[in-house]
Amino acid sequence: MSVLEQVLCKTQEARIPFWMHLDLTYRCHQRCLHCYIPEAWRQGEGPEPELTTDQVKGILDQLAAAGTFFLALSGGEVFLRPDLTAILEHARKQNFAISLMTSGTLGVSRDILRFLAELGLNGLLMTMFSVDPTVHDHLGDLYEKTGRIRLAAAQWEISLTEYQKSAPSDVEPGDVARVEKKLESARVKLAKQESAAGQAKPE
Ligand code: SF4
Repeated sequence: MSVLEQVLCKTQEARIPFWMHLDLTYRCHQRCLHCYIPEAWRQGEGPEPELTTDQVKGILDQLAAAGTFFLALSGGEVFLRPDLTAILEHARKQNFAISLMTSGTLGVSRDILRFLAELGLNGLLMTMFSVDPTVHDHLGDLYEKTGRIRLAAAQWEISLTEYQKSAPSDVEPGDVARVEKKLESARVKLAKQESAAGQAKPE
């Protein structure tokens, strides 16, 4: 048994919440097919208001007092919390080993990245479905079938990127052209949608 496993057993016996996962928000700008969070919650219409900064800090204080060591902060999309840096600073003062979980698809400023580097995270975990381009191609098809063209286009873009990284001998002839065609068609549809939405806007 590894040292960590031994520690986990001991803390379990002592009923210490050694490893804590805290979802700071259910809001998310993504619409993943596999997401277990209801759509309304992702749009910010959850069953309860989000915890305030002070409430989260209070929970962190309680966890520190109870002996928590590993702290994973997640969502939804955790970077949608405007008070994330304040929460992280508080968590750092409590000496947790902090991990952040994110889809990695929300633009984050250089200042935030610098802040995270200086804070010293235990881990920054990002979603990565696959390095297999055919998986992303298939996901793109699923998104398209459910009317989520923007997400479909994003998956086909990733598929093409993965094809570029693949050895030529691993690429089926015609697959790249087929994905390129679907991506082009999706972009045309999106442009039409945006144009129609722009025309519908009142002057
Ligand atoms: S990124 Fe995560 S929280 Fe957001 S929609 Fe996808 S699975 Fe759900």
